[in-house]
Formats: sequence, C-alpha cells, structure tokens
Amino acid sequence: MLLIHCPHCAEALPEVEFTYAGEAHIVRPARPAEASDEAWRDFLFIRANPRGPHFERWRHTHGCARYFNAVRDTVTDRFLTTYPAGSPKPDLAALKEGQS
Ligand SMILES: [Zn+2]
Repeated sequence: MLLIHCPHCAEALPEVEFTYAGEAHIVRPARPAEASDEAWRDFLFIRANPRGPHFERWRHTHGCARYFNAVRDTVTDRFLTTYPAGSPKPDLAALKEGQS
C-alpha cells in the first residue's frame, strides 16, 4: 500500500485518503486581462509532465482536507518529500542524494 505523508497531520497515511490536484508551482499571470493568449494558454494547459521527479499538489481529502505539495518520482511512484503549499520548491539534488 502506498503511504503519503501529510505535512499538516504529520503522519503517513494510505493513498486512498488523498486526491491528486495537478502540477504544483503554476503561477497565475499577475494581470489576467492583460495576458497574451499564449501566456493564458500556458497557465491553463501547459504542464511539465516529466519523467522523474515531479512537483505536484495533493489534497488530504479524507483527513484534514488541506492542500500540500509533493515531489513524486513518476518512474518509481515514490514520494521524495511533501511540504506545505506556498513553500518554495525543495532542492532536487538534495532529495536525490537522500534517496540512495
Ligand atoms: Zn492531513
């Protein structure tokens, strides 16, 4: 069973309690009415979809109901870390070192 660590509840819980909520760190244009069509398209639809570590938003739907961010390896489906939404991106090099 895949366990996901909720940074708000401070415990690892079964994945069925959580909901994936898309890519993390997507920045909304400061002035949407002034954004170009390409900038608005990129904000709405263009995602990284990487092979390897991916920054994701998750929600602890059946627990505290709060959103948080995670770094999950899309190849191994292993969570490298989770952290509160609004926090800066963690250093991937340090996370990869901790994996081995
Ligand atoms: Zn929680």
